[in-house]
Amino acid sequence: MSCRMSWLLMRNINKQPYHAFTRFIQRQDIPLAFLFVISLEQSMSERYEDSQLYRIRHSSAHIMAEAMLERFPEAQIAIGPPIEDGFYYDFDLPRPINEEDLQWVESRMREIINAGYDFTVREVTPDEALKFFKQQKYKVELINDLVAGRVDENGNQIAEPAGKITFWTQDTFTDLCRGPHVKNTREINPDAISITFKPPAGAYWRGDENREQLTRIYGTAWESADQLEDYLNLLEEAKKRDHRIIGERLGLFTISPLVGKGLPLWKPYGATLRDTLERWLRETQLDNGYLPVVTPHIGNLNLYKTSGHYPYYKDSQYAPIQVDNDEFLLKPMNCPHHIMIYKSDMHSYRDLPVRLAEFGTVYRYEQSGELNGLTRVRGFTVDDAHLFVAPNQLLDEFKKVVSLIQDIFNALGLSDFRARVGTRDPNSDKYAGADELWEAATAAIIEACDDMGLDYVVEEGEAAFYGPKLDFLVRDVLKREWQLGTVQVDYNLPERFELEYVAEDNSRQRPIMIHRAPFGSMERFVGILIEHFAGEFPVWLAPVQVVLIPIADRHLEYAEQVAAQLKDAGLRVEVDHGKSRMANKIRTNRERHVPYMLIVGDRDMEAGTVSVRLRSDEDLGAMPLADFVSLAVSVSDSKSLELK
Ligand SMILES: [Zn+2]
Ligand SMILES: [Zn+2]
Repeated sequence: MSCRMSWLLMRNINKQPYHAFTRFIQRQDIPLAFLFVISLEQSMSERYEDSQLYRIRHSSAHIMAEAMLERFPEAQIAIGPPIEDGFYYDFDLPRPINEEDLQWVESRMREIINAGYDFTVREVTPDEALKFFKQQKYKVELINDLVAGRVDENGNQIAEPAGKITFWTQDTFTDLCRGPHVKNTREINPDAISITFKPPAGAYWRGDENREQLTRIYGTAWESADQLEDYLNLLEEAKKRDHRIIGERLGLFTISPLVGKGLPLWKPYGATLRDTLERWLRETQLDNGYLPVVTPHIGNLNLYKTSGHYPYYKDSQYAPIQVDNDEFLLKPMNCPHHIMIYKSDMHSYRDLPVRLAEFGTVYRYEQSGELNGLTRVRGFTVDDAHLFVAPNQLLDEFKKVVSLIQDIFNALGLSDFRARVGTRDPNSDKYAGADELWEAATAAIIEACDDMGLDYVVEEGEAAFYGPKLDFLVRDVLKREWQLGTVQVDYNLPERFELEYVAEDNSRQRPIMIHRAPFGSMERFVGILIEHFAGEFPVWLAPVQVVLIPIADRHLEYAEQVAAQLKDAGLRVEVDHGKSRMANKIRTNRERHVPYMLIVGDRDMEAGTVSVRLRSDEDLGAMPLADFVSLAVSVSDSKSLELK
């Protein structure tokens, strides 16, 4: 669907009276909606894949496909999996879909649901499957790949050939599918479903930009109409907080097509915010015995072959760069570089733990359709550190890392988090290293979590290729869950690089590595913070903390003097030199979310005071400059989320 078409559609739809569907369709501009896990009513202990909600959504996808085939009998159907907050189905349609089609399909879905059809499953041979789907070229391709063991029915790569092919059927519709589904369509609440489509970003067959562009219809389904309503409200709120829009409005960052997609440019205000975060973490790390290092942005391909990142990450890396007779990679990971720093010196047991920290920029190849503001980018900076520890230090050091991460989240007011222990999938061969090393590392992580009384779940298959890990899942104000800080225990890279230290008995021993990044990526983290705070950053993070607003030109000099004193006190200050009236200036600066606006006029000049207006609109009245300085400095230094 062309962009123009979709905008026309949006406009028309927005004119309609209030309706859940109308509001749902607006989600197409929401940047993060599809990247987070919403679990409004979902129990934490149950895996999503095992939940009734998952079966409801998966079944709704099939029902949507049935209704779509009635509307578009010539449609080619691609794939239709459940996703984190709903489901989608990709179609190759003979003509662009319009709003009328969608409404027809949505109400037809309700009819199918109300008719009470059973979902039934049967096993078929590859030949039967191919014959059944002979008119459906995408299904034919999927079946062939499924039989060859390349992909599953949703086009995801799989390790082993599928043992059998199953068909799921309801009413007139049959799909190539493993399930699970509800038993009967009546288990779905017809008042708790809604569908939309996402026109601008193309959905490509197999996610490949060189293949057919498809029409992706998104849906969401809940157990009750209230849940649907809550979800739609949340999307509306999320849209207002879109970090791309706020980032643009506040002058935090920009993306230039000439520089390249997925390569955000940090403007002064955004860089100030990011730098404030970095300085804080850097200082906290120095206090905790971390040592700074700096490493280059490219490295010899052999380095990554030794580390095993190549070929494990081959698909998400840029092609090697040929220089003379060597090949180089844009750095996909900082670990191997830090390892070579460790290895450049002889270490005694007395030196351990060695904690090397760097805000290290790495580059990953992401398809251009996936790129999104600050949250999906092609170059990003990891608040990385690698700790080299002796085996008897592992547990203690791991706990210290975890508590540092907890402190950081708490300081930002992100205190609603849980942890996830990612372990190896025992049936996969994509992991490096011996079994007993994996077991030791996993046991250490779980012991640390238990000791610290952490709320955690264990998930198989979530490990890094070189070791198990602990991820922090943080909920923002909208209860959206983000995967942030990560800590990984690694016995493999020390082995691959033959790292050593000299033990007390003079023997050579192998250290264990801990990889950790509390924020993950600075880009993504700032994107999340923008949305979490809706641009109203706490004073200590605000790019501009104080703005001076002189009432008339004759107050300008006094305003400059005050500003200079505030700067000396370590505050980030601007003077509003604009020609507009005071009321306008107050409004403009409030829209920029500047925490403190200081209005200065004749009386302030005489008395050496400032009249303090908060961005919350509260008027604190005139106060001696010294009093304001101590207020603002103490709020900023304490990282308070309040303004006074
Ligand atoms: Zn299915
Ligand atoms: Zn690492």
